Amino acid sequence: MIDSIGQDVYVRIQTDLLVIGDSIMTDRHHASNGNYEDDDPQNQIGGIVPAFSLSGWLRHGMEKVVQEKGATACHPGESNANFQMEGVYNRDLEVGYHKKGSCVEDVDNGCVIFDLFGGFGNRPGKVMRRPIKFSPVRSSVDYTRGQAEGHYRRLNRNIVSRNEGDNRQPLRNVGLDAVGNFDGAWHLSFREVKPEFVALLAEAIDYLDAHKTDFMHQLGGARNFGGGIVDCELVNPLYNETELSRVFDRGKGATNKMDDKVEQWENEYLPEFQAALVERVEEI
Ligand SMILES: [Zn+2]
Repeated sequence: MIDSIGQDVYVRIQTDLLVIGDSIMTDRHHASNGNYEDDDPQNQIGGIVPAFSLSGWLRHGMEKVVQEKGATACHPGESNANFQMEGVYNRDLEVGYHKKGSCVEDVDNGCVIFDLFGGFGNRPGKVMRRPIKFSPVRSSVDYTRGQAEGHYRRLNRNIVSRNEGDNRQPLRNVGLDAVGNFDGAWHLSFREVKPEFVALLAEAIDYLDAHKTDFMHQLGGARNFGGGIVDCELVNPLYNETELSRVFDRGKGATNKMDDKVEQWENEYLPEFQAALVERVEEI
């Protein structure tokens, strides 16, 4: 059954506002021809959402799924790191984590989280998380290449004086890179496809979608201001490229063939993969 799942899977991500620290990369330097104005609505600027925040967000969802099955997850921090807050690290180890890589001593490939994300000893993770390229021009977005429609905005905030006598005099200006009205496909590639990987991905994405307004499970920065509330969904791994594109086409619904695949996925594939995940999680 796992043979009919390709290496490439896609997660649909939709959000009104995404702020990735200050690390959204834009192509405004060549789009603007030197005349770039932050607040010009005519800006046709695209860019890239790097994979770091996406990866952390996904990993956190996967850790939760593993923990809810009664197992512990690999701690994301190196166990030999000089933690500034050792108490926090040790507390983590009591609530659902084991030391990063300690699982390798028990089982060859380590726990499922370690297997997917990799760790020390130059061991690459078996899931490659790609950045998402976004563009405001829907017709130029190729979802099969893990791209998104998204509208880059530079947000400016004035930090004003709180002193009454200053009459809210601005002290400094803070700029923030943001993407609005984001809708696209996050492309993940398995270096090795295992049933438990696919099941864990499916369950983690469900978990993240169900907990999208929890502070812990929002994506990127500005979370106190409603940034990073993400609707997410694993695109049916049985879909071909045409069907994948159709998911994002507002003008077209699912075909009968697609409906059949949904049923197949939910009734045959997913339960079998989930059984493999339960077995794998019980190893550690
Ligand atoms: Zn582990």
